[in-house]
Amino acid sequence: MELALRIPLGAQREMDIEKNVFLAPFTTFGIGGPAVCMVRAKTLDDMRAAFALAKEQKLKVLMLGGGSNMLVADEGFDGMVVKIELQGITREGDLLVAVAGEPWDGLVQRAVQEGLWGIENLSGIPGTVGAAPIQNIGAYGTEVKDTLAWVEVLEVASGAVQRFSNAECRFGYRDSYFKRNPNQYVVLRVAFALSEEAKPNITYKDLQTAFSSKDIGRINLPMIREAVLGIRAKKFPDLSLEGTAGSYFLNPIIAPEEAARLVARYPELPQFSTANGVKVSLAWLLDHALGLKGIAVGGARLFERQPIIVVAVRGARAADVRALAQKIKDEVKEKVSINIEEEVQQIF
Ligand code: NAP
Repeated sequence: MELALRIPLGAQREMDIEKNVFLAPFTTFGIGGPAVCMVRAKTLDDMRAAFALAKEQKLKVLMLGGGSNMLVADEGFDGMVVKIELQGITREGDLLVAVAGEPWDGLVQRAVQEGLWGIENLSGIPGTVGAAPIQNIGAYGTEVKDTLAWVEVLEVASGAVQRFSNAECRFGYRDSYFKRNPNQYVVLRVAFALSEEAKPNITYKDLQTAFSSKDIGRINLPMIREAVLGIRAKKFPDLSLEGTAGSYFLNPIIAPEEAARLVARYPELPQFSTANGVKVSLAWLLDHALGLKGIAVGGARLFERQPIIVVAVRGARAADVRALAQKIKDEVKEKVSINIEEEVQQIF
């Protein structure tokens, strides 16, 4: 059946259906072929109507926020893309509540302006608020789970709106219940319990070195935000020049015996104990143990300034990125016996 070009939404509103939409411009990698169609959801009703149409047309659905953590196949996506454009940030009692389509960094900026502590270390992360709890974004010793109060979601199967408490989200390292159950829920709103009391977290080396001893005791929110943005500007690629989805792989969490074996071989390998094992720096291994910094396949390469990041020149293909990633995975397996995993969502 041919798709209608507009979905009627009642009360004289309708939503456009764009057909054969190339996804490359909607991702920070700048890679990806066409989707069958795309709709832009600005309200909960839009979202429900989009899912109803996809069901009727038997189309798969891909939810798209900022497109900052995905690699889309060169062949594109054989289904409907629902671009989440619901917006708004409000104070609800002690909570700062943001709607899913808001840019994540805009929320951080707002919290900093309002003197609210808790997400300032997450400054400068691309993507939307809705994507943040799915992979429990984290940086410089702070994760979304540390201050998240609740997440409101649309359950796709029933069309019902549900609220998940922090515990119900079952967060882990770059992980959540939603990530483990893809396509079942769409994040609508996220609430944060932030603090008016100063709580600077500068445990990470990069942040410690950004401040001198005379700063201690007078560190405020704008200072932290500025420091994080400064560190990121030096380490992360400039998206106006090259495409990327940030860290391409997860930092591996391995058994303590394995970590001890690695440290005996590489005494300078940064390692950190966590509840689930020892987290080791993949960037360090790829650079110092395997010498892979700058390795390239076609238009994709391992970023020189931070070799856990894959960058793609304009015109690079998803196939280049995948071939590069496979080569890196094989080398890591062969040389240090670790199975590494993609952090970037693979749309294939
Ligand atoms: P980095 O600061 O060089 O750190 C490399 C590794 O060491 C990471 O696994 C990091 O853990 C760990 N680490 C460093 N200092 C630590 C400490 N004091 N305590 C515990 N663990 C420590 O990493 P980077 O690549 O330059 O990235 C900077 C930050 O941005 C990191 O926190 C990184 O995870 C984060 N980042 C997050 C995303 C994302 O959420 N998708 C994407 C890109 C970068 P953690 O990974 O737990 O921090």
